[in-house]
Amino acid sequence: MNRKRPRPSRRQLLQGTALAAVPYVLLPEWQAGAHVPGPDYPLAEWRPASAANYTAANRPMTHPVDRVIIHMTQTTYTKTLFLFENPKKKVSAHYVVRSADGHTSQCVRESDIAWHAGDWDHNTRSIGIEHEGWVDRSGYFTDVMYEASARLTAAVCTRHGIPKDRAHIIGHYEVPGTDHTDPGPNWDWAHYIRLVNGV
Ligand SMILES: [Zn+2]
Repeated sequence: MNRKRPRPSRRQLLQGTALAAVPYVLLPEWQAGAHVPGPDYPLAEWRPASAANYTAANRPMTHPVDRVIIHMTQTTYTKTLFLFENPKKKVSAHYVVRSADGHTSQCVRESDIAWHAGDWDHNTRSIGIEHEGWVDRSGYFTDVMYEASARLTAAVCTRHGIPKDRAHIIGHYEVPGTDHTDPGPNWDWAHYIRLVNGV
């Protein structure tokens, strides 16, 4: 109802803040004032999934968390966020990482159970991270996406006491009973695990 009400321009909003002294093109978007940081990972933008697409919980009190599950979206970053926001889709992940620049969104709180593994036991015990791209398009597997994702996974593992190894950082294809193949043969696990461990 208030759509016609004049609103201050972005420039006016930035003026008078400490950030106005910094060229804001150099900052992540949320630091430039456009977005809210993720509730668990401040480097992520908070883009919440529909509450119809995950199970509210109080992990780790209700369910121990001991896995990170790596996915590829098989669609674009933007479409993935739209899917998670659509209450009819019944799908979500905690995080989505963009291919071109590693920009990361958090869509579900880590205390809640996202619906990404296709298996209830693995959903309850894991943090799900989606990566923009297709398993058979190697151009999407960028260095910046690996680096941003590895920083995120390292932070998740530290927060939950998850060992930073291949037994605990797994692909969707390793979930029992799944017919999904992601992240696929183009995903460089050795490189990724080295990055997660800071080497
Ligand atoms: Zn997957």
